[in-house]
Amino acid sequence: MCACVNWRWKQGLSLNEHAFTPTDGGDEILCASEEDLYEVLKLPYILPTLREDRGEIEAAQKGQLPDVIQIEQIVSDLHMHTTWSDGKMSVLQMAQAAQARGMQYIVISDHSHGLGIVNGLTPARLWQQAEEIAAANEEMGPDFRILHGTEMEIKADGTLDFDDEVLARLDFVTASLHVSLNQPREQVMKRIMTALHNPHVDMVAHPTGRLLPDRPGADLDMEAVLATAVATQTILEINANPSRLDLRDSHVRRAVELGVTLAINCDAHHVDHFDFLHYGIATAQRGWATAALVVNSWPLEKFLAFLANKGK
Ligand SMILES: [Zn+2]
Ligand SMILES: [Zn+2]
Repeated sequence: MCACVNWRWKQGLSLNEHAFTPTDGGDEILCASEEDLYEVLKLPYILPTLREDRGEIEAAQKGQLPDVIQIEQIVSDLHMHTTWSDGKMSVLQMAQAAQARGMQYIVISDHSHGLGIVNGLTPARLWQQAEEIAAANEEMGPDFRILHGTEMEIKADGTLDFDDEVLARLDFVTASLHVSLNQPREQVMKRIMTALHNPHVDMVAHPTGRLLPDRPGADLDMEAVLATAVATQTILEINANPSRLDLRDSHVRRAVELGVTLAINCDAHHVDHFDFLHYGIATAQRGWATAALVVNSWPLEKFLAFLANKGK
């Protein structure tokens, strides 16, 4: 029996689609709202995203429901693309759109050349892009900051697409698996471990690489991935694109238990994709993630201090 039904019987109530009915035969109890319903049950209100029968009733009974991240707390996005690779808008357009949505800083993270898409960035083009980012920062003024990053390929052979000297010059480095996701576990684990242990890699994006509804993602030992992310202070992404939602909710829940630092990013290739944020927030909430673990809720100074002090 699920915890919810169990608890209801303990309160002496049965529930059908209309009302609660006291099991000792009293009058029906009608509830106008969900909040009323929880009040009748003598429980604190439980957010819809937490209603998974994964311990939320017990946590509510003990007054230990997590204070999960809310969309209003998000001040940054650390993963987006521009016309420098496969995005549709300029650096400045992305920055202005992010600011209009209440963000204070972003990371531009165009694809690296090893992905094999037209326009993947070589180191030479990265440094040209740095000039455009500097100009856009000038244009945006002191209340907004554009950081220069990359979404670097973790290549099929397990090597990373840029040398450490290149990575050291960037503000923020994301590593991603996009290709050869069907490799045997040992091989694909070696690839993601290389990224997690690289001292310049700050985040691993959409860790499993799954694509909904058809591509299941790499056969990763998630327990080892999460533990290594904690040990190396590497951020793991909750990719908010509805075709990814990766990390998925159950992985987020375990990540939160282990203390993994998380980010919720839209992976925007167009300004409209910032609308994906609420999917990422819902996934984070389903995994009981709080603002303390989600870097996008941190002010810029705290975020930069975290990057400076990781000391991998
Ligand atoms: Zn990607
Ligand atoms: Zn991306």
